[in-house]
Amino acid sequence: MIPIKKDREIDQMRAACRAAAEVLDRLENLVAPGMTTRDIDEAAAQFIAEAGAKSAFLGYRNFPGHLCVSINEEVVHGIGGNRRLAYGDILKLDVGVVKDGWIGDNATTIRIGVVPPAVDRLVEDSARILRDVIPHVTQGSRVGDISSFIEQAALARGYSVVREFVGHGVGRKLHEDPQIPNFGKPGTGPKLKAGMTLAIEPMINLGAAGVRILDDKWTVVTADGLPSAHFEHTVLVTKDEPEVLTWRKKTLLK
Ligand code: MG
Repeated sequence: MIPIKKDREIDQMRAACRAAAEVLDRLENLVAPGMTTRDIDEAAAQFIAEAGAKSAFLGYRNFPGHLCVSINEEVVHGIGGNRRLAYGDILKLDVGVVKDGWIGDNATTIRIGVVPPAVDRLVEDSARILRDVIPHVTQGSRVGDISSFIEQAALARGYSVVREFVGHGVGRKLHEDPQIPNFGKPGTGPKLKAGMTLAIEPMINLGAAGVRILDDKWTVVTADGLPSAHFEHTVLVTKDEPEVLTWRKKTLLK
């Protein structure tokens, strides 16, 4: 059952997503070489509180962080700790917040200074793939159309997509139906209807698709140790153009 939000609920989703986007924006401005991922987690805790919200991730299945903070070969679900951000890294921040019972979820990949050209392209291309798939997140499309678009766009540029972790419906719960894999067949899966709110989140690997989970039981890393990029928006399906609820003025792409 995919929840369809009513107008009043959509307004609450807008507020939650605005808070999530604002926190991500503030973190993006803050990060610098030399910071530990714990520093970033602590800043996230403060910014989320200042947005009048709570972390949607803290305590979720016992996740210990206020956000997911992942570097280079870490794909998603990294936990703030002693790892120190270095010049030339790519940093993935995933921020989910609860505000008045509703959840906004968004993520971005940040280049810390100048990164190697192949990694630079991976980050740009992954941002572009999310931007380009969003117009397809509209009433009448099927989940498989979104999945397939992301997969084909990634493969066409020589990347691979992570198969074990997926986008999802989001609302009162962090993970609602439907699951939105970053691979699939067009014309398959549930049909999108106005009022659905979906977290679309390509996870794209420079090398092979395989991933493994570290001993902390959370951090997902690429099996080949090559970098991975992650971008996410919460999107409202409407009868016309989709509305990006976590839209930010500052984006990687013009
Ligand atoms: Mg998500």
